[in-house]
Amino acid sequence: MAEKMLQFVRLPQRQPEKRDAEARRHDWAEVYRPFDPAAAAEQASRCSQCGVPFCQVHCPLHNNIPDWLKFTAEGRLEEAYEIASSTNTFPEICGRVCPQDRLCEGNCVIEKGFDSVTIGAVERYITDTAWERGWVKPPKPRRELPYSVGIVGAGPGGMAAAERLRVKGYQVHIYDRYDRAGGLMIYGIPNFKLEKEVVLRRHEQYAAGGIHFHLNCAVGHDVSLAELRERHDAVLIATGVYRARDIACPGVGLPGVVAALDYLTASNRKGLGDAVPEFDSGALDARGKTVVVVGGGDTAMDCVRTVVRQGAKSVTCLYRRDKANMPGSMREVKNAEEEGVRFVWLAAPEAFLGDAQVTGVRAVRMHLGLPDATGRQQVEPIPDSSFVEPADLVIKALGFDPEDLPTMFGEPALAVSRWGTLKIDHRTMMTSLPGVFAAGDIVRGASLVVWAIRDGRDAAEQIDRWVRAKAEAEAAAAPMAVAAE
Ligand code: FAD
Ligand code: SF4
Ligand code: SF4
Repeated sequence: MAEKMLQFVRLPQRQPEKRDAEARRHDWAEVYRPFDPAAAAEQASRCSQCGVPFCQVHCPLHNNIPDWLKFTAEGRLEEAYEIASSTNTFPEICGRVCPQDRLCEGNCVIEKGFDSVTIGAVERYITDTAWERGWVKPPKPRRELPYSVGIVGAGPGGMAAAERLRVKGYQVHIYDRYDRAGGLMIYGIPNFKLEKEVVLRRHEQYAAGGIHFHLNCAVGHDVSLAELRERHDAVLIATGVYRARDIACPGVGLPGVVAALDYLTASNRKGLGDAVPEFDSGALDARGKTVVVVGGGDTAMDCVRTVVRQGAKSVTCLYRRDKANMPGSMREVKNAEEEGVRFVWLAAPEAFLGDAQVTGVRAVRMHLGLPDATGRQQVEPIPDSSFVEPADLVIKALGFDPEDLPTMFGEPALAVSRWGTLKIDHRTMMTSLPGVFAAGDIVRGASLVVWAIRDGRDAAEQIDRWVRAKAEAEAAAAPMAVAAE
């Protein structure tokens, strides 16, 4: 092992510099500055090169983390990039948005007593450097194949599958109802976590590599799934989950009570320079307003921090459990607190108040009860504990469910689970329709970018296997058919 490694006993953990909270409140730039070369090498050298690297085990892509850390410590960045990109389609994006505290870094063995290696920041540094130095190339097939695959959805799941299939030589067509590729990476996750240029340049690379994008094309509306099955040798559904969960409270339909993704999409579009009438009319703009966000997950954190940047008068987050039981990443909660968000823990909305426009939220205090079968403590309202939070904008961030795909696609035979996610055979990733595969949130329910990438890559392998087996079976049957004539 190189002498450079195992420096965790000598060198403390140092995350990339975090921009000052007061400056962050007024712009949309990313929160963390990139590592400089010396800091990246130094931090990578803290790795102890474990024989059984738990970081790798707990990365959904099983990235070969120890090897790319070692190459980074030695200044061999091109080799580090080769390794990082061999298992991860978007290492620079995962380095920015993965909840590393729950995945790779949370399982780094030196975490106990020494603070983990800063894996995500090094991964980002390696791949940002690769982009700067021109090492990131469009997908290039060794030879063209006569088979085509149609992919529904240009989010991380669909894009990861497209890249893998194109490298194998397939003719790949991605259909997306939006006008830009990237899925939630472009219109969900805000710029201060993931600058949009980082997503857009991947789209450009893939188009340059021969992947065909059919944007503004909603499958089930502009083209049917049946037509795609006719057109292509296989189809992958990677449409994500978009139906916002709602609250059954009086006043929920009042003007000024809006869904999180409508709000975030409008903000992201505005940042990209689009005309956004719902934003310009003020309906989805928090400027000067008293805002309440309901929910405690990552989407809620993205909303409260977007509200701050839009120049709201104040922003309060209502969450029915306590801080320790929040489902989102603690790193994002801390960032929100630093940026001036007020949290009201153990509080749930009872009613939205107002006549022609929302004026407030009546909420009730909750207490944590006994754990249920899953081990999670249940919440119960405290009698006579109601209070009112004034608000002229309320954002509901309560999670997402799948749309009704069998109806949307006019394919009643497309089997779904009781949650509406697509049912697949987990060995082949095929749905109940032959030759139709599925990946990402539409199978898992709302999840993470890194899991969508993993699913997309796995689906590409299964599609390749299936298309080749079918072609071989057809070729084997062809001479017999001729002989029989
Ligand atoms: P998506 O990214 O949702 O992409 C699906 C694509 O399919 C979309 O482009 C959509 O337009 C298209 N589509 C849908 N229906 C049709 C149709 N009928 N015809 C054509 N196209 C269609 N994950 C993280 O790891 N870190 C984070 O910090 C993070 N932050 C998030 C913040 C927000 C606000 C949200 C909502 C999610 C966040 N996530 C985060 C989750 C992550 O973005 C998703 O898990 C991931 O994008 C899922 O990828 P996907 O490819 O399955 O679907
Ligand atoms: Fe960690 Fe995510 Fe990178 Fe895996 S992909 S090493 S979990 S940051
Ligand atoms: Fe290095 Fe930590 Fe992974 Fe061990 S668990 S190989 S120390 S990053």
